[in-house]
Amino acid sequence: MKKKLVVIGNGMAAGHMLEELFDRGNTDYDVTIFGKEPRVNYNRMMLSPVLSGEKKYEEIIIHDEEWYKTNNVDLRTGVNISKIDRENKKVIDDDGNETSYDKLLIATGSYPFIIPVVGHKLKGVVSFRDLDDVDLMQEAANRGGKAIVIGGGLLGLEAAAGLQMQGMDVTVLHLMPTLMERQLDSAAAYLLEKEIEQRGIKVITRANTEKIIGDEHVEAIRLDDGRELEADLVVMAVGIRPEVKLAAEAGLMVNRGILASDHLQTSDPDILTVGECVEHGSECYGLVAPLYEMAKVIAANLDGDMSAKYTGSVTSTKLKVTGIDLFSIGDFAEDEGREGIILRDAAGGIYKRLILEDNKLVGAVLYGETGDSTWFTQLLREGTDISEMRETVIFGQNFQGGPPLDPMAAVAALPDEAEICGCNGVCKGKIVSAIKEKGLSSVDDVRVHTKASASCGTCTNLVEQLLSLSLGDSFNPNAPKPMCPCTPLEHGDVRRLIVAKELKSIPAVMQELEWETSCGCAKCRPALNYYLLSTWPGEYVDDNQSRFVNERLHANIQKDGTYSVVPRMWGGITSPEELRAIADVADKYKIPTVKVTGGQRIDLLGVKKEDLTDVWADLNNAGMISGHAYAKGLRTVKTCVGKDWCRFGTQDSTGLGIKLERTLWGSWTPAKVKLAVSGCPRNCSEATCKDVGVICVDSGYELHFGGAAGLDIKGTEILCNVTTEDEVMEYTTALIQLYREEGYYLERIYKWAKRVGFDRVREVIVDDEEQRKTLSKRFYHAQQFLQIDPWKEFVDGKDAHEFAPIKPIPLEAAQ
Ligand SMILES: Cc1cc2nc3c(=O)[nH]c(=O)nc-3n(C[C@H](O)[C@H](O)[C@H](O)COP(=O)(O)OP(=O)(O)OC[C@H]3O[C@@H](n4cnc5c(N)ncnc54)[C@H](O)[C@@H]3O)c2cc1C
Ligand code: SF4
Ligand code: SF4
Repeated sequence: MKKKLVVIGNGMAAGHMLEELFDRGNTDYDVTIFGKEPRVNYNRMMLSPVLSGEKKYEEIIIHDEEWYKTNNVDLRTGVNISKIDRENKKVIDDDGNETSYDKLLIATGSYPFIIPVVGHKLKGVVSFRDLDDVDLMQEAANRGGKAIVIGGGLLGLEAAAGLQMQGMDVTVLHLMPTLMERQLDSAAAYLLEKEIEQRGIKVITRANTEKIIGDEHVEAIRLDDGRELEADLVVMAVGIRPEVKLAAEAGLMVNRGILASDHLQTSDPDILTVGECVEHGSECYGLVAPLYEMAKVIAANLDGDMSAKYTGSVTSTKLKVTGIDLFSIGDFAEDEGREGIILRDAAGGIYKRLILEDNKLVGAVLYGETGDSTWFTQLLREGTDISEMRETVIFGQNFQGGPPLDPMAAVAALPDEAEICGCNGVCKGKIVSAIKEKGLSSVDDVRVHTKASASCGTCTNLVEQLLSLSLGDSFNPNAPKPMCPCTPLEHGDVRRLIVAKELKSIPAVMQELEWETSCGCAKCRPALNYYLLSTWPGEYVDDNQSRFVNERLHANIQKDGTYSVVPRMWGGITSPEELRAIADVADKYKIPTVKVTGGQRIDLLGVKKEDLTDVWADLNNAGMISGHAYAKGLRTVKTCVGKDWCRFGTQDSTGLGIKLERTLWGSWTPAKVKLAVSGCPRNCSEATCKDVGVICVDSGYELHFGGAAGLDIKGTEILCNVTTEDEVMEYTTALIQLYREEGYYLERIYKWAKRVGFDRVREVIVDDEEQRKTLSKRFYHAQQFLQIDPWKEFVDGKDAHEFAPIKPIPLEAAQ
């Protein structure tokens, strides 16, 4: 007599298992299969082309009714199994019908995770898992309007592309900073985002949905930053969870998925499991390839071949959006002992990265050109030693001695209208034609004829590269001083190109400027983070992981591993309440040292890392915020008592210092910035060795800049004299903004002014009223996004994970 094989779930994995079993010619079982969905087995992966209209349901059916009949399979569609009675070896459906088994196969797949935000049950909120979901989405698309897809993973992007092809206005919201972060590194994710946006789909990363708004039907989505986006349809594509309820209720061992052995047996030897509901070797899979490997093993085992075992899978991913070539396999995390080989072609939108360990391929990310994905998969799966072809492996299987990479390709690829010299508004086309038509052969020639590089000088290297591109070997450029080993470009080139090419993220800079490493290094990442932050206020989101540890933790690490905490004291003024709060904090957290700093602040030294948040919370409660004593930004404004108390005082130096500090705090700058205001030329607050100093005089204020009193000692130079406090504010903010826009990362004001010329700074800030006012305005504009107390953000829970830093950047690298 035949054994009874009952299958719960008529999806891709179960269907494949039966196919494998019948292909073996096995007829030992009477098979009954239950499927909750009211239809036969279809190719779930192809729901994306069905949604986009590129395919019809009929075209994606895997097993039609005829197939079940031919193979004597008793197919029960639209039947949900609600219980497994292991003792009596029966399954029971929703209507109470019982079916006995000798062997049971659980193939219940996964269910889509729905974020339990307010409004998730409104009409118009759908998931993307089965044909019914696709029908709902297509109905919505027929009515037109706005669709929001929550989730920028494989499924979300396919849904977004499909809905857009159906004529909807689509926005993708993604919680993480980059799309498909589990499959792609940031460089490939950047290219993907760019491509998606070029198709007219909006992408908002770091978007956390707070609420779905609507009475009965969805009307909008609110993000936790307060933004509201209109929506006629919301698709939740934020992940899947293995469907384990039935198995768990039957007492089978379940973790995230149903625990299975190498024979795909559950904790009950008569019950097997296959598909996305399985957990094997701590892995649950969400792609078809591993499920099919499992199905093959089960079929062999059921057929009596117990030598077949499932030992886990290496998965690879491709996105099924027409026109986007993307492939990822294996592990691409950076780790000790791993090396990366990278190929970037900015013009072609190509990025390839191979990750090697012990001369073997362990991961690959390909974007823009995926022709060699099969070959790379083979190398990876077979563990091929690639030391012989190391130099050429990245070029692919058919490489016959490809062209060398051109370090100037980024400049060559710039369009003619790209602005090279921002100060004088000179574009690439003008420079190149001047070089050719006027026979120019040096940077000085270009300066004279076009004015490019005649002002701040940050574009000099770009001009040299244009000369080199135009004149070839006959131009002899100076030895380049690259920003770091990841790029041949100088800081100034990078700053200029960020603006010229409108690059708005670190991956964008690295791809478009053809970085030679995948994720940069401890030198370039913080610099790029600063350049982007200062160039695109309000648009670029600070990348905390690209900061040095002190800035990441908002406290200075000390040599014994504890931290120093310095609350802000505006202009060096404090109060009994603040002092009491500081004393209480010192007592409560047993802080060993309390010291007055050179900048007139109180430093709590020796705070334990685990106490930092509590210390900040207590200081916040007493009205104090971070003093940014760790920041490449405004540190302190030191003041003297001025005319309120001192008989020599000419102006309210303390009040002005407070005003300056309240205006400038929070602003990120290339390096630290210290200010001082003295009430008279006796200069008790030492304003003439600060980055910016103000000396109050009878007639008003003498403004100074470019001093230093650290490793280098340098007196300030005079900027100009002004008569009112308002002028002090305008000139100072304009000066700081000019420095923010032109300074190279870690370059103090005195070094920047020396490089571009102290006179030029005066020309811009003092002589050119219009430019001064514009710079000052830009400074104030940026401040609205920056004056947020980082301590309070931490206390409120933001970036709490930073206390377990992911990629510590060594402090030495900052020097
Ligand atoms: C839109 C989309 C695109 C995809 N693209 C890709 C891709 O490009 N590449 C890739 O590898 N993978 C892709 N996948 C994933 C792939 O489709 C799944 O990995 C695969 O379908 C899982 O197979 P399964 O049999 O485990 O589960 P399923 O195919 O979900 O089948 C499980 C079935 O069991 C039924 N069921 C559950 N509980 C019960 C019960 N109690 N009683 C009766 N029936 C029950 C369910 O209704 C379902 O029909 C995609 C998935 C989707 C949704
Ligand atoms: S700088 Fe002048 S005004 Fe200020 S405390 Fe010293 S003497 Fe007095
Ligand atoms: S002067 Fe030197 S030793 Fe003293 S706090 Fe500054 S860096 Fe440390």
